[in-house]
Amino acid sequence: PSTSAAQFVAPSSDRPAVNVLPPLVSAAGIAREVTVESLTKKIRVLGQLEDSFIIATDPEGLLLIDQHVAHERILFDKYRALEAARTSESQNLLVPETFDLTPAQAAAFDAVAGELESYGFALMRLSGRTVAIKAVPADLPPSEARNILAEVLETIDAEKRGAARATLRDEIAASLACRAAIKINMPLTEEKMRWLIDRLLTTSSPTTCPHGRPIILRLKKRDIEKAFHRP
Ligand SMILES: [Zn+2]
Repeated sequence: PSTSAAQFVAPSSDRPAVNVLPPLVSAAGIAREVTVESLTKKIRVLGQLEDSFIIATDPEGLLLIDQHVAHERILFDKYRALEAARTSESQNLLVPETFDLTPAQAAAFDAVAGELESYGFALMRLSGRTVAIKAVPADLPPSEARNILAEVLETIDAEKRGAARATLRDEIAASLACRAAIKINMPLTEEKMRWLIDRLLTTSSPTTCPHGRPIILRLKKRDIEKAFHRP
């Protein structure tokens, strides 16, 4: 949905002057998803909005970057590449943790145990529905091993279990990436924001997250000028 500049002008002259002002929501209508082709390395970081969105400029205008999905894309590509090359990294737990699977989780576990190992999990099925977690993939907090495994198994729900292996591997990578990524409402240093943008630009798809959400919005210079009623 886009808001044209024409809507900023009051349609009839008998309205009070205050109605001539554009509604606040009009700004949302002119911040649009960016295309990969329009991205360059000339991105300058200005700051952070609400500890959640990076504010930056590029030659075409003002950029808003969702820090969580940006990092998610970086980690998704990393997990997929390491898995494809069979070089996944693991972090060993000091003490293995045991995890009691629900019947649904146990069925999911049986379907994807091999994939989980190839991402860096070290798992051992004990008696019944109990699993020992000995290691978790890189970048994830080992202290949350149980939650991470539960979340991954949750994404492999019944209908997906019959899906192609590549689809299952993507689902697992997306779940791990979401878990490991920087959250929103987290203050970032300028260096960290710079790192995120530089790394994002090297990924397979810098403008969309693994689940298809936009990562970067742009307010074009021309639209800013129009909104200020500049010719
Ligand atoms: Zn996420």
